[in-house]
Amino acid sequence: MERDGNGWVECQLGHRHWGLHGAAGLLLHTVDPDGSLRVLLQHRADWCHHGGTWGLPGGARDSHESVQDAALREAVEETELDAAQVRVRHTFVDDHGGWSYTTVYGDCVAQLDTVPNEESAALEWVRADRVDELTLHPGFGHTWSRARLASLVLVVDAANVVGSVPDGWWKDRAGATERLGERLRPLLSTTLDDDQTSGVISGIHVVVEGAARAAVIAPPIETVRAEASGDDAVVATAQSLSHNGQQMVVVTSDRELSRRVGQIDDTIAIRGTAWLLDLLTG
Ligand SMILES: [Zn+2]
Repeated sequence: MERDGNGWVECQLGHRHWGLHGAAGLLLHTVDPDGSLRVLLQHRADWCHHGGTWGLPGGARDSHESVQDAALREAVEETELDAAQVRVRHTFVDDHGGWSYTTVYGDCVAQLDTVPNEESAALEWVRADRVDELTLHPGFGHTWSRARLASLVLVVDAANVVGSVPDGWWKDRAGATERLGERLRPLLSTTLDDDQTSGVISGIHVVVEGAARAAVIAPPIETVRAEASGDDAVVATAQSLSHNGQQMVVVTSDRELSRRVGQIDDTIAIRGTAWLLDLLTG
């Protein structure tokens, strides 16, 4: 039944919530040129429940729909965003007992245009590190500290990735590396959610060596040109990012290099080229 989720419930924590079948909100991320993350927030109109606070676009789930569909439907109603530009990813469930709120993560390549409906005083792409400075909707405040995603930088051992697909790369190493750079670009702002790695890709460093050093890859992807060994350059890049407290995923299938990277910091995720190729085609 359409809108059969509309209604109030009391959860086991003693809150009063809107949504008989729970509620869902859409959490969209984008990445600024400097690598900082932004999220789309709704400043709720004064007349709404908890008016004047900031939260996610979203609302009550109907009995027949998935949380993903509910979050997207409600977000479209409240923001007029183009759902075709959003790729829905994983979810985070905040279960209060008898009622739950599901944060649905969505990817979009750039800040989408939005038009506030009557429930919104404003819609803004807010820097993720500034969200805590706002007066948050209590439900969103309850979820945000646990649902927020870290920024992740990919460090790509380009020779290893390019070499893993026999497409004639040996005839033009620089060209093959440039094509890899173009394929990597859409991964910026992608949400990762495998067991050990969760976060939003906020930067990509492509490490190139030998003849591939002539490759020209446009910013914001960073090209690291190895002066000698590509492995040494990957290690140096990972060390420098780790030193700055940056979480990262190093992409290489080279065993010895994986071992060296693993010694830098055990929070660094190391993934093989198959993982990256899956991400590019998935
Ligand atoms: Zn509750």
